[in-house]
Amino acid sequence: MQTTARVVVIGGGVVGCSVLYHLAKFGWTDSVLLERDELTSGSTWHAAGGMHTINGDPNVAKLQKYTIDLYKEIEELSGEPTSLHLTGGVLLAATEARFDWLKSVVAKGRYLGIEAKIITPERAHELMPLLDPSCFVGALETVVDGHLDPSGTTRAYAKAAVPAKAKSVAQKIATDLRTRKSIMGIFDEGCMGMYNAIIPDELLFPTGVYKERLSQSALYAAARDVSDAEARAVYQWLRRKGMKFHLGVNEATDLTERQVLWQCKTYIAALRIADEFGCETIGIQYQQGLKDLLPASDLVEGILNKILTGLHIIPEPLQILYTDTAVLIGMTYVYLPLMVLPLFAAIDRFDFRLIEAGYDLYAGRLTVLRRVILPIIRPGIVAGSILVFVPSLGAYVTPRVLGGGKKMMIGNFIELQFGAGRNWPLGSALALILLLIVGIALIFYVRASASENKDG
Ligand SMILES: Cc1cc2nc3c(=O)[nH]c(=O)nc-3n(C[C@H](O)[C@H](O)[C@H](O)COP(=O)(O)OP(=O)(O)OC[C@H]3O[C@@H](n4cnc5c(N)ncnc54)[C@H](O)[C@@H]3O)c2cc1C
Repeated sequence: MQTTARVVVIGGGVVGCSVLYHLAKFGWTDSVLLERDELTSGSTWHAAGGMHTINGDPNVAKLQKYTIDLYKEIEELSGEPTSLHLTGGVLLAATEARFDWLKSVVAKGRYLGIEAKIITPERAHELMPLLDPSCFVGALETVVDGHLDPSGTTRAYAKAAVPAKAKSVAQKIATDLRTRKSIMGIFDEGCMGMYNAIIPDELLFPTGVYKERLSQSALYAAARDVSDAEARAVYQWLRRKGMKFHLGVNEATDLTERQVLWQCKTYIAALRIADEFGCETIGIQYQQGLKDLLPASDLVEGILNKILTGLHIIPEPLQILYTDTAVLIGMTYVYLPLMVLPLFAAIDRFDFRLIEAGYDLYAGRLTVLRRVILPIIRPGIVAGSILVFVPSLGAYVTPRVLGGGKKMMIGNFIELQFGAGRNWPLGSALALILLLIVGIALIFYVRASASENKDG
């Protein structure tokens, strides 16, 4: 995904899309448009789409003319209809002063390239039979005047903003996909239980790529049929091409040659199956079972295990995810700053000479801690405890993600009542009890700090 841009245009109305188009037109193709909703979901969507080239300011008139001429261009570039309808128009003058102004507009239009002419009230009546010519002294007839579809025009700007080179590459790929019809093989799609790892058929098929669902158990069976010699040939080929393997001997913690050879067998088998089904590309999501049957180098053990085994603190990688330890680490990570900050604020104000005074009075380290330090920084400890206590009572995201849905905390229990449990009364009652507990804790804190201040 693109993470930087030369220009970020905010708002996908007709103005934002026009800015994006002009940036691309003048070579700033590294621009991005951000729209919070849909293109044309602001004023543009409401506009009647009426336009003309008559304006008291010649610069604005020229700009209007430029824009109207542009609509044909962006329609052609994008293939998106702007529904431009140039009906022509009539501006009427009921007074001599207004008529003079219309004449000056025609004069300015001549050097601006805006086609307009002065007509009689009778001619205006011919063009628009509903008007009464006796009420007017003269009129102005314009050619470039009419209406269009504002939404279509905005989409046309947005589409036309794609640089011609990118468009031609995209068109080539799209034509290739549509004419050559590829098949993509996927071994047990979604087997890890992740919906985001599934490529939706309804989005994929219109691109001209079709999906062949392949079986991971068939892959395992086929991998066993690959000979050792074939696996070794692939392994040697990889090494000849410059791939480096850092091999060890411990099957649990190192990458061993045996594992690499099994991986080679797996990929040879996968390619053979892909060939059999005419797939141009294949994807394997390692199912838990397949990971146990065949070595899977992409399932790394994680940073903690790497560090702990590297430092020889643990002999083998631990299973941390989805355990109480994982939830504890996650909760500590999330809430620790809430404890540290008030503590820091309290300790920052602490007068360290008091410790010296304690030692001078022959108090031991523990006594100084108990009788001097802790009472003084107590407000920070209480504030931190409450700040951690309140949100962790209702925490349910961390336990769910790191506990894998198997670890139940109060927050998860309440969430369950509103979700799968469908026991809203119990959920509401529990949420209310939590609120009361939090309220009591806060009252306790406010009272404690009030009396602290009084004493202090
Ligand atoms: C009823 C009506 C009739 C009109 N008729 C005509 C007419 O006949 N002729 C004419 O020339 N003009 C007409 N107008 C005026 C014309 O519609 C506006 O001048 C024009 O649409 C303004 O375009 P815009 O791109 O500046 O704003 P918008 O179309 O409002 O676009 C702004 C966009 O920015 C997005 N946005 C806002 N905040 C953010 C954010 N923080 N992050 C990301 N996106 C954001 C919005 O979702 C919206 O899509 C009419 C307007 C109305 C309301």
